[in-house]
Amino acid sequence: MSKTASLYQELANLDKKHFLHPTSPIQQQQQQGPAFIFTKGEGVYLEDVRGKRVMDGMSSLWNVNVGHGRKELGQAAMEQMNQLAFSSCFATFSNEPAIRLAAKIAEITPGDLSATFFTSGGSEANDTAYKLARHYWILKGQPSKKKIISRKRSYHGVAMGATSATGLKPFRDFTNSLAPDFYYTENLSAKSLRETIEAEGAETIAAFVAEPVQGAGGVHIAPDGYFQEVRKICSEYEILFITDEVITGFGRTGKWFGMEHYGVTPDMMCFAKGITSGYAQLGGVVLSERIHDDFKDLSVGTLLHGYTYSGHPMASAVGLKNIEIIEKESLVENSRKMGEELLKGFKWIQGERELVSEVRALGLIGAVELKSEKGPFAPAVVNEAAKRGLICRSVIFDGMDILVFAPPLTINKQEIDRLAEILHDSIFAVEQGI
Ligand code: PMP
Repeated sequence: MSKTASLYQELANLDKKHFLHPTSPIQQQQQQGPAFIFTKGEGVYLEDVRGKRVMDGMSSLWNVNVGHGRKELGQAAMEQMNQLAFSSCFATFSNEPAIRLAAKIAEITPGDLSATFFTSGGSEANDTAYKLARHYWILKGQPSKKKIISRKRSYHGVAMGATSATGLKPFRDFTNSLAPDFYYTENLSAKSLRETIEAEGAETIAAFVAEPVQGAGGVHIAPDGYFQEVRKICSEYEILFITDEVITGFGRTGKWFGMEHYGVTPDMMCFAKGITSGYAQLGGVVLSERIHDDFKDLSVGTLLHGYTYSGHPMASAVGLKNIEIIEKESLVENSRKMGEELLKGFKWIQGERELVSEVRALGLIGAVELKSEKGPFAPAVVNEAAKRGLICRSVIFDGMDILVFAPPLTINKQEIDRLAEILHDSIFAVEQGI
């Protein structure tokens, strides 16, 4: 056995025995071991311990926006760790990178979004937003406003609140007791939102939460007008509008934040992933100036919500450097331009392959839907693509049969062409087997 093959074998055995993987097919992991054990990343490519190189068509978990192997981010982390690895942000303690990052977020987010509460990731960001929304209504003297409305097919994470808000039912069914006061409305229907509010009573609702583009639920893009109407409805009924930009933030959709496509400013915005491109664990919630002012004016005791790592100095330093890279290299613009190329590639595949029924993309988040009478076929395409050197993901909840993509924002035309070519060949291979 070669050296790399025996290293793979050793690690695979340990993996099976000791590593309970997140969001994973546990039996398949036990039978087959890890599909890849990654050791290196460079640009849009990842390399596995056996030397296999694959294109990361998902930016791993929709998060490696600036691509892999960025030494500047490693450098920023190292410098901050050597200077001040950790200190508390509880009470009135603070640190420079967290302060500067909060100010930078206020600068690049739309409208009057201006004050950030930091978390370690997107699930915590969502739980935080729901708790802050409820606390807001307590401060405003309306404690009965506590229900959180989310949309079917939405994904908001796996903390207890985030799981309860997640509209993809299998995630909720994983556990047998959820947080109370979560309700679901139809995706992309402002009418359904209004009906849900009327049925539940606005005086009992704290907030409505939505992803600008539904990611894990199959990349569903809102038509123009929908979010404008949602914003109006939320204001009319005095319900806080929370956007979950965990995937769509930091250039993913071809604008800094997804909601900018609709010219709408939420009351609170959740973010994570792309803020550090995954180089450090960081998320948060940005409050509008109006909501922040109310918190400042009406709070009396201590704001009793905080994670040990809220405002982590090293993660904040990485976030700052990452945003600097996005700005310097015009990656938001590249996302828009390459997103158009990606969509062209998808359309070409749709023209060539029977199995494809619909394609869409907004910036560098996109989907290829398959016709599923005998399906779903998306998982087989994902396997074929991995063999050919491309990582993508399938979504097969609720009768869906969708391939989703979110390559790094640094991707170039040549790499997009390669992605489209591999995808085409993978779909062709699956068609041959039907
Ligand atoms: N919200 C959205 C829209 C997400 O896509 C995700 C993760 N995929 C989350 C929240 C949860 O984030 P995390 O996994 O960092 O907790």
